[in-house]
Amino acid sequence: MSNKDLKIIKDAIRDIPDFPKPGIVFKDITTLLNNKEAFNLLMKHLKNRYKTYNLDFIAGIDARGFIFGAALAQMLGIGFVPIRKKGKLPYTTISEKYSLEYGFDEVEIHIDAFRGVKGARVLLIDDLIATGGTANAAVSLINKSDATCVEACFVLGLDFLNGKDTIQQKTSVYTVIEVD
Ligand code: AMP
Repeated sequence: MSNKDLKIIKDAIRDIPDFPKPGIVFKDITTLLNNKEAFNLLMKHLKNRYKTYNLDFIAGIDARGFIFGAALAQMLGIGFVPIRKKGKLPYTTISEKYSLEYGFDEVEIHIDAFRGVKGARVLLIDDLIATGGTANAAVSLINKSDATCVEACFVLGLDFLNGKDTIQQKTSVYTVIEVD
């Protein structure tokens, strides 16, 4: 992607200081989604990158990962799988806990999410990687499902939080935009 196109995508993401609590700069991607030029450039870039990966499924993380993941799956002609916060999926699930600053959270996937395809090649996608806790648990869920997470992809990476480091031991990581 050209620097000009990358800038269009970057500029379309809005910073909201002190949301949801003081000290956090929230990266608001709603202004990317409602900008047809920026959204289209991003999705075309992801399609180009992943069309040669021989993917079987895309797994998206609750909730913003669903938007990019489902759009990309449709563009690549493959299936989409949601990884959700605990208690949202209606059928039998596999779950994975992960630590937060205080306490823990949990993500789940349906037990038959990859339709019994052994070794299914899966791309994980979310809007942003911060500490990497959520994505790390999501990669574990994919691997526990007898599938292979071939890459974890994020529109934005908060580089200063080193979230990539943990996940890189399990799969490769790609971020479209790095924020220092
Ligand atoms: P983490 O598990 O720390 O990598 O957090 C990643 C999840 O939290 C992603 O699903 C993001 O959507 C969300 N998130 C964390 N920090 C931010 C931020 N500064 N702006 C927007 N979303 C965030």
